[in-house]
Amino acid sequence: MTIVEPTATTVGGPALPQERRLVTSIPGPRSQELIARKAQAVAKGVGHTIPVSVVAAGGGVIVDADGNSIIDLGSGIAVTGVGNSNPRVVDAVKAQLDAFTHTCFTVAPYDGYVAVAEKLNELTPGGHEKRSALFNSGAEAVENAIKVARHHTKKMAVVAFDHAYHGRTNLTMGLTAKNIPYKNGFGPFAPEVYRAPLSYPFRDGGLSGAEAAARAITQIEKQVGAENLAAIIIEPIQGEGGFIVPAPGFLPALVAWANANDVVFIADEVQTGFARTGAWFASEHEDIVPDIIVTAKGIAGGLPLSAVTGRAEIMDSAMAGGLGGTYAGSPLACAAALAAIESYEEDGLIERAKEIGSVLIGRLNALRTADPRIGDVRGRGAMVAVELVDPATGAPDAALTAKVAAHAHANGVLVLTCGTYGNVIRFLPPLTIGDELLIEGLEVVAEGLRNA
Ligand SMILES: *Cc1c(COP(=O)(O)O)cnc(C)c1O
Repeated sequence: MTIVEPTATTVGGPALPQERRLVTSIPGPRSQELIARKAQAVAKGVGHTIPVSVVAAGGGVIVDADGNSIIDLGSGIAVTGVGNSNPRVVDAVKAQLDAFTHTCFTVAPYDGYVAVAEKLNELTPGGHEKRSALFNSGAEAVENAIKVARHHTKKMAVVAFDHAYHGRTNLTMGLTAKNIPYKNGFGPFAPEVYRAPLSYPFRDGGLSGAEAAARAITQIEKQVGAENLAAIIIEPIQGEGGFIVPAPGFLPALVAWANANDVVFIADEVQTGFARTGAWFASEHEDIVPDIIVTAKGIAGGLPLSAVTGRAEIMDSAMAGGLGGTYAGSPLACAAALAAIESYEEDGLIERAKEIGSVLIGRLNALRTADPRIGDVRGRGAMVAVELVDPATGAPDAALTAKVAAHAHANGVLVLTCGTYGNVIRFLPPLTIGDELLIEGLEVVAEGLRNA
């Protein structure tokens, strides 16, 4: 088998040939070497989806050390919306590197952080006065959103939902619903976290949004009490939990109840934010205005950055020094975020997310018509998933899901799975992927389903 050596001309983001190219089996020899070293050097709890050694990525492909070019339908979990090594991001980060790398914003402030806060205040839903604070990871931002909500309301309880995913730190593990692998053996978890039932149209017997919201609110009132409740936190479309789009009206009813009861409504848009769903933020699809919105993943083209943006009176509650972090809002990540936001705007990526969505939904629905193992096709924009089931009983089919994903990975297509029951294949391509590559990737997944 020929091994193609990646060269300088094949590195550098969008300049990479946009093709699926397998020159070895996956993993090839160089990737195998890295995976063996990983097993010896890296803690086992840090897993991987596809056993490759990445050397370059851009547009819609990831290139490994053996010269295989893999179609990327995962974007590093919805992070590289603007593509890997997006040229605007690369240039901005290089210029920032040459200027300075760190001062700690809470020691000596700089323009980039403030400019990102201004952008977030402008782009997030609602015309009210806002403030933002920047952090490093999604989980850290969720923790800070809860800190702020508690400080502002002087209440302690927090409600999260079934199938929720909010991160891997202690508080966010407690907010996360799924035990294995996220929580098992990692307790005890933070107190005053309560769980409410979601709207899950495929699995809740057709409850309307209003009915599902009434069910959740009744449970919250009976089991927690608004007078104890600081915040409700919810993903407008659940990510890890299975790309669950709640029935229309569910989110607006929760917001209305929160507003009427001095409860801070927090939208965790870490996965759904930044053009992913065909809007800046998924909250817009239901015209909701969250009190606080948490963002990360797609915000900075792959550099670590997260944010909490909310009503000024809530966000300003904490005293100076109460929020922050050594690296929070690093100048490099802020430069990347400003460039990524420019790319979403100038390169028409919100429109592109919608187009990708219609290609995905159209083709997956066609597959579903012919294959009853596809129980549901759902999502918005470039955040789409299929839920695989036993056609006779509707029971989740995690084994089939794993087989389809394995087929895709072996054939040079990176797809991610998710869902409480492990039976959801999710599509989160970079918004810079071309239609041809996207369709080819889908074909490989369809082939996996036919073969399974
Ligand atoms: C990924 C994710 C998080 C956690 O973000 P990290 O950067 O991994 O800490 C939180 N909420 C949602 C909805 C996510 O998808």
